[in-house]
Amino acid sequence: MAGILFIISAPSGSGKSTLVNELRKQVTGVDFSISWTTRQPRGSEEHGREYYFTNRAEFERMLAAGAFLEHAEVFGNYYGTARQSLDDARRLGHDLILDIDVQGAAQVRKSMPEAVGIFVLPPRPKELRTRLRNRFRAEGQVNEAELYRRLSEASKEIENYREYGYILINDILDRAVAQLEAIVLAERYYRNGEPIAYRSRRVLEVAAACRQSNSQERLKPVLEAFGIGSSPDQQQFNFEEDPDDD
Ligand code: ADP
Ligand code: 5GP
Repeated sequence: MAGILFIISAPSGSGKSTLVNELRKQVTGVDFSISWTTRQPRGSEEHGREYYFTNRAEFERMLAAGAFLEHAEVFGNYYGTARQSLDDARRLGHDLILDIDVQGAAQVRKSMPEAVGIFVLPPRPKELRTRLRNRFRAEGQVNEAELYRRLSEASKEIENYREYGYILINDILDRAVAQLEAIVLAERYYRNGEPIAYRSRRVLEVAAACRQSNSQERLKPVLEAFGIGSSPDQQQFNFEEDPDDD
């Protein structure tokens, strides 16, 4: 494709959608791939805005017809990226962002190894729990079983961070948005020779600092907090509730 394909993955509730929405306010020429899913709409979600909502029979029909670039079952529902998203971005010469899970990302990397992978991490397990709970609340309902299910998947998903070229620790939102913007502009500069004006040196430095190979020091405490890199019997992480934060 003429533009760059960005794959962004993270445990649910880390702030992916927030970051992508903020990025798209700052940077033009970057489209968001609206996935198909069999899950029910949440809160104020609309068909054709956050997702294309469908049923299993229709999803399976599309799958059999080869409509998906990748697909996966996540939290008991199907999710998939339509090839059409890629074709549309290609036609417009835009970059495209896929917000997909680690299984889908692995499929895309196989067919499009040039894709740029960005893995978003929450700063701490407890912060992830708080964000997820806040989001459920904003959507009108805190479903404890679903909350627990998403939290218990988090460290398994995080183990896949090594497959991604860039790591974004979403602690302070403004800083994480600036880092995401820097990654996009730096990739445009390196791949397409696109000028990045007076901020160029700073942008390249910020993006370089987010490369996985340069992120080990910042990553270490986060991975440890999620029980990654320790022996299996130590793989316990603490989503402990604070009595006053609910
Ligand atoms: P995801 O798309 O990864 O599931 P969301 O973007 O829906 O996550 O974010 C989950 C919740 O966390 C939302 O309520 C969002 O407003 C909040 N959030 C996102 N980033 C931050 C941040 N850096 N600091 C505090 N809250 C955040
Ligand atoms: P949610 O239900 O919270 O919107 O998303 C749940 C998970 O599904 C997230 O990890 C999200 O990245 C992932 N997801 C969303 N769309 C797709 C898709 O098209 N393909 C794949 N493989 N995962 C997706």
